[in-house]
Amino acid sequence: MQSKLRLALDTMYAMYPDACCELDFKTNEQLAIAVILSAQTTDISVNKVTPNLFQTFPTMHALAEAQLEQVEETIKTIGLYRNKAKHIKQFAKQLVEDHDGILPSNEHELTALAGVGRKTANVIMGVAFQQPALAVDTHVFRVAHRLALVTQKANVLQTELQLKRKIPKQEWIDAHHAMLFFGRYHCLARQPKCKECSLQSVCNYYKQQKTTQSD
Ligand code: SF4
Repeated sequence: MQSKLRLALDTMYAMYPDACCELDFKTNEQLAIAVILSAQTTDISVNKVTPNLFQTFPTMHALAEAQLEQVEETIKTIGLYRNKAKHIKQFAKQLVEDHDGILPSNEHELTALAGVGRKTANVIMGVAFQQPALAVDTHVFRVAHRLALVTQKANVLQTELQLKRKIPKQEWIDAHHAMLFFGRYHCLARQPKCKECSLQSVCNYYKQQKTTQSD
């Protein structure tokens, strides 16, 4: 692994030794639903609706059979709730019909389910099944680009593939969580904590900001 990436990851591991999935769930199926709901919204807001959602619809069968309006009502405080209600109902229906209500453990079958894209499948693979996976969400993407851990124009998929090429496979899950926490709590989108960041010397974003300020 290149030394900058090693330094960056080790710094993040030291800062967030307990980095892990912050969504609340009891079963793999609930985790999948929580991850679907977390698209473009915070884990905190998802955790506010899932206790009631999982209590109201305790099984995938119950969710599959639910009235769409009732699902919408249960999750209406989160962004894009109408679409997400459709997705999780359809997701539950597919799980019941195609997988006896049990979450499949391979990426191909996961991404065939409603609401499950590559990022969601990667989170599920890593968190539910402890299979090597490196999900690139908005935080991982931002951190990878600010630190130039990937090429400048890399899109989400390219970012995932480039990071996977450089990071040992056994480290993918930990790297995902550490980069996510670093982006969520330190290298924030609008106000990154650059003044107190020990990665300043290797950060492209920081160098660019400095250059802009001195122009
Ligand atoms: S110096 Fe700023 S932009 Fe760079 S990694 Fe640290 S917090 Fe993020």
